[in-house]
Amino acid sequence: MGIVGYSLGGGIGWLARRHGLACNSVVAAEMVTADGELVRADAESHADLFWAVRGGGGSFGAITALEFALYPVESLYAGALFFPLERAGEVLHRWAEWAPGTPEELTSVGRILRFPPLPELPDHLRGRSFALVEAAFLGEESAGTELLRPLRELGPDMDTFSTIPPAGLAELHMDPPQPVPGQSDHLLLSGAPPQAIDALLEAEGPGIETPLLSVELRHLGGALGKPAEASGPLAQLDGEFLMFAVGIPMGPEVAEAIEHHAGDLRSALSPWAAGRAYLNFAERPTDTETAFPPEQFRRLQEIRAQYDPTDLFCANHPVPAC
Ligand SMILES: Cc1cc2nc3c(=O)[nH]c(=O)nc-3n(C[C@H](O)[C@H](O)[C@H](O)COP(=O)(O)OP(=O)(O)OC[C@H]3O[C@@H](n4cnc5c(N)ncnc54)[C@H](O)[C@@H]3O)c2cc1C
Repeated sequence: MGIVGYSLGGGIGWLARRHGLACNSVVAAEMVTADGELVRADAESHADLFWAVRGGGGSFGAITALEFALYPVESLYAGALFFPLERAGEVLHRWAEWAPGTPEELTSVGRILRFPPLPELPDHLRGRSFALVEAAFLGEESAGTELLRPLRELGPDMDTFSTIPPAGLAELHMDPPQPVPGQSDHLLLSGAPPQAIDALLEAEGPGIETPLLSVELRHLGGALGKPAEASGPLAQLDGEFLMFAVGIPMGPEVAEAIEHHAGDLRSALSPWAAGRAYLNFAERPTDTETAFPPEQFRRLQEIRAQYDPTDLFCANHPVPAC
């Protein structure tokens, strides 16, 4: 994944509950506008463009450089607790009950992961299926251990938590390091009460034959749920959890099955839908307007009309000029 697309579309990382969306940590963008001018957009110069690119996507120019605010972090307590897939019910229920009470220094994911039988995977993961909880905690190991106690009490089969440098976060979610085709769907949820967890398990839990390799709920809230100071159009994310489901479309039949399963999962969780899209996780054509509060979307359209009136730039989720 590229840092520019990630940051322009929001950016939910492992420190998101503490530091918010990545887009709101961008402090300057160098970009070529539709009339061919290279500009630096920041709080003082081209402030409207600066506002728009921080969450509004790629409709406003070609970004050649981004500058970010930095947060001093020497180490984190992070890892995953792996349980057999058959225990997904107790694990996900316990996690969904536990996560809302955790401090914003802790970001966690409750997940069902079905590893494919690929030779490059290690023996202990290849072809196996798990229910797991991944988390990163900005704090001391002793405090992290105490926070995780209710989950560890369940007795995981594997426990990979340790104190790691920030660079180690890149491997925490176990995304393949090399490019792999993926087909996914998402849904922002206003909450994950026991009925929502049951609905997820019924759709994709133990005993279900599915092409979805990963079905996860990310815990949001914290800094993501509060308006960021001097933000772009995505001041906050309106949702407490984010469902993300993905499979590898090896051929048209698998692609169709992924579409079908992901669609059914969305329907099953729709009673808890927060009503907004998160564009970084929107892989099908999506009405861009559904990702923003109406007044922010109107302002994005005005800025688009001012800087790119002829629709030169073609973003994955375009903001049409008004
Ligand atoms: C394995 C994987 C893991 C992911 N994990 C996360 C995650 O944890 N959190 C999260 O928030 N998202 C995540 N994503 C989603 C990711 O943020 C989006 O797919 C994002 O669009 C990727 O941007 P890109 O630059 O790689 O893709 P591209 O397809 O190159 O770009 C996407 C869009 O961004 C814009 N863009 C990109 N580069 C420029 C540029 N230089 N100038 C102007 N516009 C530009 C364009 O509009 C383009 O259509 C993940 C994706 C993958 C594949």
